[in-house]
Amino acid sequence: MRSAEHAGSQSGCLICTMIERIGAGTFPDFIAELPQSYVILGNEQYYRGYCVLLAREHVTELYLMPASEVRAMIDEVRLVAEAIADLTHPWKMNYSCLGNQEPHVHWHLHPRYESDNLRHGPVWVRPDPERKIILAEDDQRQLIEALRAKIAARIPDARFPGR
Ligand SMILES: [Zn+2]
Repeated sequence: MRSAEHAGSQSGCLICTMIERIGAGTFPDFIAELPQSYVILGNEQYYRGYCVLLAREHVTELYLMPASEVRAMIDEVRLVAEAIADLTHPWKMNYSCLGNQEPHVHWHLHPRYESDNLRHGPVWVRPDPERKIILAEDDQRQLIEALRAKIAARIPDARFPGR
């Protein structure tokens, strides 16, 4: 784990703060540490299995990252998407890298399901209170453990708490 004061951190950045909490072991939605990113369970579990990959260092644009790191990160996005899909069997996976609210490179992986009547549009068309479903504690723990197993099977370098 990185120390709280790692060189790439930017004060005032919410995502850097999350990474510091992951390093301190106090971020409950943390799933995995990968060579280029941290994987967390997102807070919009209407899209069950929704995860976010956070770039390890504070960087505001993909094009400001070294090309080799971008390629490696995209590969992590691909493999985590596959891990989610293997577990939840979505109708379609959505990938987004926006950063308009939190300008620290991160990727949203939203699995979309047949049961979603708004599935032909972007996820954010659905109102916040409907998207931001908080799972019961046991359910969340089981989902995180199941995702870790699927990620471990695909990314040998992945690190998990307590391993
Ligand atoms: Zn940051």
